[in-house]
Amino acid sequence: MSVYSWDEVGKYQKDVARIITNSYRLNRIAHAYIFEGPNGTKKTSTAFLYAKSLLCTNPNHFNPCNECHNCRRIDNRTHPNVFYIKPKGKVIKKEQIKNLINEFSKASIEKGPRIYIIEEADKLNLTSSNTLLKTMEEPGQDIYQILITENYNSLLKTIISRAETLHFKPIDRNLIKDHLLKQGIQPNIANSISEYTVDMGSAIKFAEGFEMINIIKLVTEIYKGILVKEISPVMLFRDSSQEIFKSYDFTDFFLTLMIFYQKDVLHYQLRNHDNICFLEEMDTIKKLSEKISQKNIEKNIINMLGLKARLKYNINNKLAFDKMLACLERGY
Ligand SMILES: [Zn+2]
Repeated sequence: MSVYSWDEVGKYQKDVARIITNSYRLNRIAHAYIFEGPNGTKKTSTAFLYAKSLLCTNPNHFNPCNECHNCRRIDNRTHPNVFYIKPKGKVIKKEQIKNLINEFSKASIEKGPRIYIIEEADKLNLTSSNTLLKTMEEPGQDIYQILITENYNSLLKTIISRAETLHFKPIDRNLIKDHLLKQGIQPNIANSISEYTVDMGSAIKFAEGFEMINIIKLVTEIYKGILVKEISPVMLFRDSSQEIFKSYDFTDFFLTLMIFYQKDVLHYQLRNHDNICFLEEMDTIKKLSEKISQKNIEKNIINMLGLKARLKYNINNKLAFDKMLACLERGY
């Protein structure tokens, strides 16, 4: 997911946008940056925006026009002055860095700055790091580098000391929710997903994934079933269990949503309506909250958290799910 201006970066990463635009204003753009932070925090898209800002033929206060030949080629990853490296397998291979340095030693095909962006820079081995360090020690060239990492502590200290580090923070849940809503995702789904993950990329993947939407539907049906007492939650779950047990992510997502829903009932009882996740289920949540004691809600949540913890150790006991659901039903 691209970003097209520094204002847009500022929505997600206020400090990063401020630092970069300030250095531009003060004419103190750094030649080497480390973009550090968790997955899904716009590090890579910000790096490419930076490249566009440097190469755009028609920039406006360091904002690229996003339309010129240079901007378009950077978006398409075809600009000869922008190099993008990511690990092949577990490490960034020595040859990858060698080729990069080779490119820099030649005169560039096109004039203007050259930018290299290295993804997962913590996966550089010692030799590659040293080769790279040499280029960092040769200033004066119109070369810019951005090293991206989720494991800042694994970067070599010598690399860290030669670059300016910018910290990317987890994105605000509300921004993810708004984004999903704008994509036409139903409020229920947008809410559940933004509660589940603050990684924008996986949130979008979730929202597009048919299975995830079905899981959200199943969770609301289970609680409706408990209220109406027509179909037992155990039966409802059995119909979809094959799908859910297909992957750890699905099972984990299912349990997490079951817990959110339980918490919603609790929030309703405590009149914390602002914290409710399944907003569209308010009617069911209200009715359920009248039928259960706080103690039983807590018991259910503890049960579900226990199952969630066991998932991590690959203990995926279908019987335990049946038991949890039966217990849930009895509580109401
Ligand atoms: Zn442009």
